[in-house]
Amino acid sequence: MSQTLTSFIAQPKKRLNSRQITFLIFVVCLHTLPVVAIFTGMRMVDGLVCIGFSLVYAFGLGGCLHRYFAHRAFKTSRVFQFFMCLLTGMTFGDPIWFAGKHRIHHKYSDTTRDVHSPKQGFWFCWFGSVADEGYPESEILKHAADFTCFPELMWMHRNYWVTPLVVGIITFLIGGFSMFAVGYGGSIIIALHGASGINYFCHKGRNRRYETSDGSTNSWVMALITFGEGWHNNHHHYPNTARAGFFWWEWDPVFYTLKVLSWTGMVWDVRGVPARVKYNLIE
Ligand SMILES: [Zn+2]
Ligand SMILES: [Zn+2]
Repeated sequence: MSQTLTSFIAQPKKRLNSRQITFLIFVVCLHTLPVVAIFTGMRMVDGLVCIGFSLVYAFGLGGCLHRYFAHRAFKTSRVFQFFMCLLTGMTFGDPIWFAGKHRIHHKYSDTTRDVHSPKQGFWFCWFGSVADEGYPESEILKHAADFTCFPELMWMHRNYWVTPLVVGIITFLIGGFSMFAVGYGGSIIIALHGASGINYFCHKGRNRRYETSDGSTNSWVMALITFGEGWHNNHHHYPNTARAGFFWWEWDPVFYTLKVLSWTGMVWDVRGVPARVKYNLIE
């Protein structure tokens, strides 16, 4: 059975097709925007918009894309689910694509089938895996089958570029080139590198609390930067909780935000960490 299953999972491809090369060229162009703004002029408000967007994206990537869409760590309404889809879409996040790809990551962590792994090499792990899902579309859809029944999510899956384009145009219309370049472009760059940093640094090193079958590690630096996602060894030990920081001293504002949202009734059944898991007594 497992042999049949693994034969279905394609090896991640290190080749980049024209769509992925186009995306990488776009990412390079994004990096030039703030540099150009240094010469053309920027204002304090552009930096504040960048910080504001970055805070929103931290929750969008950690709370929505990762803990909800990939791991179903809490429940919510269809309306709020779509809102979270839009939030993640602002940084080119596509819930179905990410859920499919990320579930494969957990299934085959740090093996040759894992497109996230630093074992694929620094450049591919850091940049290639952002642009390249590494697996055929059929595999992505199969691993995200619980979301493919929502037409609005499937539409976003096919048109993932629409949300960031609209937000980019609105930012430009409101604040001109400098706000677009620094506020919008800068925050997307921070989000992309934050996600790549987790993929790379949190699967290297020795800071492991739990014996997992992969090379996942905890990094307080990455946790600080990504608002909690850096407790990655905790997460691989028990992925289906809304918490990445298992102990009170482990900084995890994404979880604190989910907790506050649960008090408002917008999300519910926010899954915690059982003591037997926390203290490594899992069967
Ligand atoms: Zn991982
Ligand atoms: Zn995960």
